[in-house]
This record gives sequence, structure tokens and C-alpha cells, in this order.
Amino acid sequence: MSHIPHPAWIEVDLVQFRRNLSLLKNRIGSCRFCLPIKANGYGHGLIPIAHAAQEAGVDFLAVSCLQEGLSVRTSGISLPILVFGGIHEEQIPLCIEHNLDLSVSSLLKAQLIATASEIMHKRCRVHLKIDTGMRRIGVRPSSALALHQWVSSNKFLEIIGIYSHLATSEQPDHPFAIAQIEQFQKLRQEIGPGYLWHLANSGGVAFYPNSYFDMVRPGLLAYGQFLGQHIHPDIRPCLTLKSKISYFKVVSPQEGIGYGHTYRTTAQSRIVTLSIGYGDGYLRALSNRGEVLLRGKRYPIVGNICMDQCMVNIGQGEAYVGDEVVLIGTQNTETISLEEVARQAGSIPHEILTLWNERLPRKYTP
Ligand SMILES: *Cc1c(COP(=O)(O)O)cnc(C)c1O
Repeated sequence: MSHIPHPAWIEVDLVQFRRNLSLLKNRIGSCRFCLPIKANGYGHGLIPIAHAAQEAGVDFLAVSCLQEGLSVRTSGISLPILVFGGIHEEQIPLCIEHNLDLSVSSLLKAQLIATASEIMHKRCRVHLKIDTGMRRIGVRPSSALALHQWVSSNKFLEIIGIYSHLATSEQPDHPFAIAQIEQFQKLRQEIGPGYLWHLANSGGVAFYPNSYFDMVRPGLLAYGQFLGQHIHPDIRPCLTLKSKISYFKVVSPQEGIGYGHTYRTTAQSRIVTLSIGYGDGYLRALSNRGEVLLRGKRYPIVGNICMDQCMVNIGQGEAYVGDEVVLIGTQNTETISLEEVARQAGSIPHEILTLWNERLPRKYTP
């Protein structure tokens, strides 16, 4: 569909993306690299990201659910694909059929997977999920040995990995993250190596080198966001959100703009309208807060963001209908970072990335 002209779009620089992956691989050394591509590859586009990652030599991909795993597998990806989420009984047969690695987060789930595998006469690759403090899915460390024993003695299940997830790793030196790493290390000593032990998300990779174990799973960082520069100055965002000016007008002082007139001009102003709104995933919370780049300068979003359009006050600045506008990313020497937008919207970078919908075409370079 991306050949149909549309006045708002996302540009993904796959050269920069592969550079990020290769810089991260240098950082982790001999440790394996699992790239999370859940939620449409963090908004960058599931299939193109999966293929770029496979070319760049990552070892594993991770998705959240069967639906994503199936799309990736049937697109011709041969890498192992781990499904992070707590699996539901009805999803298990298709996961096994398409060689997806499943997370075993309880004895009951292990039994369900084993039963389905037996019926299908096919072994299922699994990763045991231990809850060391996230309190989301996974067995308590005190039940890990028993789970390991049950699963390892079942001939329809093959343990590939054992993993856990950090709850507070986005801050360096956090005592809870340190405790989780120690807990995980202790379990590894009890159960033994011989599996892929994996724990580190982006925060782990950036701030906790002793969380690497046998494999790391950095998401946001791999897309060059947030903690990237902390590791290497050349790890950079690979995504730009753009739109175009659809309309230009001059508005007198003291006039209200948009629904509810939440903004009033103070002086005679040039107001331009952009073809993007909250219906595309550009959050309404950015109304009267967000900024955009136009001809290399920053200008404010004024009034409430509409479903499909929004307005920008360019004061006495210059702009023409058809001009390209950057909402997230760099234009000339100015940058609006994803972090900045997330802060203005009262959100986090992960959420902003995953709200953009199908209406916004993705354009890939090269
Ligand atoms: C999403 C996710 C990650 C990646 O998290 P980032 O913060 O993007 O690095 C790693 N592991 C699990 C289990 C996840 O769900």
C-alpha cells in the first residue's frame, strides 16, 4: 500500500538500524543477541525489521504472541523466534507447527504444551520463565528447580533457555536490579549452565554488564532510542515521523484555534494545518505542548489535535503548502527526540512507538 501517496508517514533507516545492531553486538561480545520485534517491531514494521535483523546476524527474534510469530515465520524467517507472552491453550498447536519457542511460565502451561506436542508428535522448544521480581509471569525462584525437573524429564519438551525480566534496570545501580541479577545467578548455579540463560533488556545492556549471561534482549536500545548514546555515540534512532502542510492561513489576534478553542492567538499569526492527528497515533495529549520542525525551525502545535489533522503556529515564519514537516526526528540541525515527545505526552518512548497505526505508511531506506 506504501505506493499510494499519503501525507503522513514513517521513514525507517535500515542502514542505521543494522549499524545499531552491529555496535551492540560488539558491546556484548560472545553473548547471543535476541532482538525483540513485538508490537510491529516497536512500530518500525514487523517484517522488514525481522529480515534486516536476520541479515545483520542476530541470533534470536522475540515476539509477544502467536499472531506476530506466525507472520514473521511465514515471511521466510528461519531464526529461532521466542514468544514472550503467557501462552493460551488454544494458541499452542499453531506455535508448535510453526517452530516458535514458547515461554513456560508455570507447571500448568508446561503440561498443556507437552500434551499438545504429544498429540502432534512434535517436540516443542521452550524457555522457562522465572519471576525474579517483575511479578508478571513466571514461576517463583523457589519453584524453578521443580519446574526444570518436570520439563527436562518430558520427552516432548526441549529446554532451550531459562529467563527472567528486570523491573528497574532503566536506572543505573538500582538495588532491586542488582538483587534480581544475583537471584538469577544463584539459580543458574543451582540448575546448571547448558541452556541459554537470559535476563537483560535495554537497561540491563546499558547499565548492568553482569546481567548479560548467555543472551541479551535489548528492544528500545536496538532501535537506537533512549539509552543508545550511553553505549556508543553512533547508536542512533532509525525512525522519523513526517507529515506535510495541507493548508496555510493568516489568523488575526485573539482568535480561537480548533475544537474547544483551547488556544488563542495573541498576535496576527500564520497558522498551518498538517495532515496527521490522533487517528494516526499522534497523541492528542500533545495538544498545545508538542512541537514540529519546519524548514529547520521549531514551531508549536496549537489547539487540540484533531483525529486526522493538527495546527501549527509559525508566527511570522515562512512555509508553503506541501512543505515537509518532521514531528519526531531530525531536520537540518534541529532534532525532536522520541524521549522529548514521550515526556510532553506524559508517556514513555515504547508507548509512543507502538501507537502509530496502519494508516501511516513505512518507507524504508534502502
Ligand atoms: C519487551 C521486552 C524486552 C525488551 O525491552 P526493552 O525495554 O525495549 O529493551 C525484553 N524482554 C522481555 C521479556 C520483554 O517483554
